[in-house]
Amino acid sequence: MKTTTTLLSYLLGASLLSTSQAARLPDAAAVPGGVALITLPASGNTGSVTLNGKPVMVVEDGDSQIAVVGLSLSARPGEHTLEIRDTDTGTLRKQAFRVTDKQYETQHITIKNKRKVNPEKRDMQRIGKEQQLIRKALANHAARTPDSLRFQLPVNGPVSSPFGLRRYFNEQPRKPHSGLDLAAPEGTPIRAPAGGYISDTGDYFFNGNTVFIDHGQGLVTMYCHMSRVDVKPGQKVVVGEIIGAVGKTGRVTGPHLHWGVSLNDARVDPMLFLDEAPPDQGKHH
Ligand code: ZN
Repeated sequence: MKTTTTLLSYLLGASLLSTSQAARLPDAAAVPGGVALITLPASGNTGSVTLNGKPVMVVEDGDSQIAVVGLSLSARPGEHTLEIRDTDTGTLRKQAFRVTDKQYETQHITIKNKRKVNPEKRDMQRIGKEQQLIRKALANHAARTPDSLRFQLPVNGPVSSPFGLRRYFNEQPRKPHSGLDLAAPEGTPIRAPAGGYISDTGDYFFNGNTVFIDHGQGLVTMYCHMSRVDVKPGQKVVVGEIIGAVGKTGRVTGPHLHWGVSLNDARVDPMLFLDEAPPDQGKHH
């Protein structure tokens, strides 16, 4: 039965390749934490495209090419520059684009386990090592073309914390929220939102049980606080395949999925990749 489902998912995933890629782009939002879609000049033969020295995804759209650029939460509003290397001449062209400001809301969170907010000395070495592994997984730029730049919801649960919130843990400022939290009961299956390869898994101090899916061309997704991990590094996954289950491992106040999306090593808003918004919390008036 599992084989049949996997095969069906594979066929559905593969069929996306033949649809217009332009229609499958993420939503454009040239803001910190967003995605800029930049049509590249038609002249010359586009080779590598980089932003701040990091390779950027390029997709074909009919006769033109579009750079799909992740903008980090710390990106300055104002002018930024893509560098485009011409494969024939080796010359470097520059293309400017604008990032507009976005103010994200502030959130205050109380964590009962104080060690998860102010780690002890003995925790710091572990945290340092883990952050290196996490950064490496998120920064990877695989040559493979992604199946799809539109994602299915990995968990069918309401948003418990949106992307980009400026956070205070026990009244102490911490990094802004670099992913989207979806609330669901412990044990709820988490499904791959698109095809890719499992690039790493781990059990981390803050993130708990974690899985990384490398979709290719610098698009990497991350799943945290899992109760269970069902995949192994190097394994291929297809859209809809179960990679593990929702849990409350690491620094959490309750069971949820923290879902992170990284594009050219910038943490961006997962909502920009969704066709279907997460269900609301039912708090209608
Ligand atoms: Zn989160």
